[in-house]
Amino acid sequence: SVQMAKSKFEYVRNFETDDTCLRNCYIVVRLDGRNFHKFAETHDFAKPNDDRALGLMTRSARSVMEELDDIVIAYGQSDEFSFVFKRSSNWFKRRASKLMTHVASQFSSSYVFFWKDHFADRPLLYPPGFDGRVVLYPSNQNLRDYLSWRQADCHINNLYNTVFWRLVQKGGLSTVQAEDRLKGTLAADKNEILFSEFDINYNNEPLVHRKGTALVWEKADETTTKQVRVLNEEKEVTVTKSRKRVSAHHCDLIGSRSGRSTPTS
Ligand code: ATP
Ligand code: ATP
Ligand code: MG
Ligand code: MG
Ligand code: MG
Ligand code: MG
Repeated sequence: SVQMAKSKFEYVRNFETDDTCLRNCYIVVRLDGRNFHKFAETHDFAKPNDDRALGLMTRSARSVMEELDDIVIAYGQSDEFSFVFKRSSNWFKRRASKLMTHVASQFSSSYVFFWKDHFADRPLLYPPGFDGRVVLYPSNQNLRDYLSWRQADCHINNLYNTVFWRLVQKGGLSTVQAEDRLKGTLAADKNEILFSEFDINYNNEPLVHRKGTALVWEKADETTTKQVRVLNEEKEVTVTKSRKRVSAHHCDLIGSRSGRSTPTS
């Protein structure tokens, strides 16, 4: 083999630490928007749910799945998105920092790149950032519980925010009064406030707000017609190709089959 030219500086590479993810585990990368409370204010996000912002998050996550290898499912809500790499992935030799930074930078650049498609008349005022972390889950049950945990978080926050902003926007309460009103209330109490005071059945609120967004790979047969020349004759033939594409779903990620009850407050 060819002798690599080595400089006397080469030894500094040995200061790099090994961050290989344990084999056979699901690798989950979760991103979260940096200081998005302020970012949402600055860019006039609708409260409690801005659908343009949710659409842009999903578009960016789609780009991550399409551009990077081995991601089998992604789940997002609010300013966060989780990406699950398949257990057998050997992408970048499972180096945590490589996986995490590729996800975070692909997501961030996509968020900026696709901004104008979602916020046509609203300029992006400063460059947003996202933090990332890596978590390993050794069993299917652990991964299911992870996804259930993020979806429960979505549910709890959305129920709270839905009542909170109703009380403020339609109920004439100040934000401080609304906060006081909701202190110590359970899910049933919040549902009751929505129903009796605002004629809202929480279960009829949009699924994308209540359940978040899951992205998975879906096989789709694509049929096209093609012109071919056979024995000097133009002929039309149909060609069917099986293609993979990312599809979005707003539903319970894990059915109650797993025997765990849904959150109550
Ligand atoms: P940190 O940097 O610690 O994550 P943060 O301000 O981003 O701080 P989060 O707990 O991540 O805090 O909360 C994200 C906030 O971003 C929400 O509370 C909400 O104010 C805002 N936000 C994110 N997505 C949307 C959306 N689609 N519509 C309206 N507001 C949103
Ligand atoms: P990897 O994803 O493994 O980093 P890479 O193609 O980015 O692959 P690098 O070793 O990082 O490989 O090399 C970066 C390459 O990008 C250079 O070899 C060069 O071809 C190109 N490049 C980067 N910056 C410039 C620049 N300012 N002008 C011209 N070419 C550049
Ligand atoms: Mg946070
Ligand atoms: Mg955040
Ligand atoms: Mg968040
Ligand atoms: Mg490079």
